[in-house]
Amino acid sequence: MSGEVKTGNLVLPGDKLGVIEEYVLGAGTFQEDGVIYSSRIGVVLIDNKSKKISVFPKVAKPLIPKKGDIVLGKVITVQGKKATVAIAMIEDKVLSSIFTGQVFIRQITGGYLESIDDMFKIGDIIRASVIDDKEEVYQLSTASPELGVIKAYCARCGNVLRRVNKQLKCDSCGNVEMRKLASDFE
Ligand SMILES: [Zn+2]
Repeated sequence: MSGEVKTGNLVLPGDKLGVIEEYVLGAGTFQEDGVIYSSRIGVVLIDNKSKKISVFPKVAKPLIPKKGDIVLGKVITVQGKKATVAIAMIEDKVLSSIFTGQVFIRQITGGYLESIDDMFKIGDIIRASVIDDKEEVYQLSTASPELGVIKAYCARCGNVLRRVNKQLKCDSCGNVEMRKLASDFE
């Protein structure tokens, strides 16, 4: 994960949370060479007073995505005609393990697209609906206004991108990018 980690952020195992000079290690974290990482899927909690950083799972019982669910996940690859997504949440409930999903190019907007490149990029957090749960890899769709990218990072410098009309702008390096945005992208 690029950029600054904040309380409430969804993180995956191995995501960088900060450095030992900034924080005290709490539950669900570990450090290697002075860098603090998450050891589980969960939500970050930073105690501003003690500077303790922890990652809490939101649910105790196992949750499995089903057809019709709205899921949140991180784009891990974008190749050819599909994006692979690590599904980490159903709505606002954190899953106990990661499920793999795919969005095929025809399911991104529901219409014809030349290329997937300006729709999703690695590291993006997307909201999608599960359209098929029969195979091991879930089939996902973002072909609805409220579905798509909800958080994106600059391809050039890794900074969090900000929406400016229909485009995304990097306040750090000035890069302008496109995505298939969810309507509530901030
Ligand atoms: Zn940038």
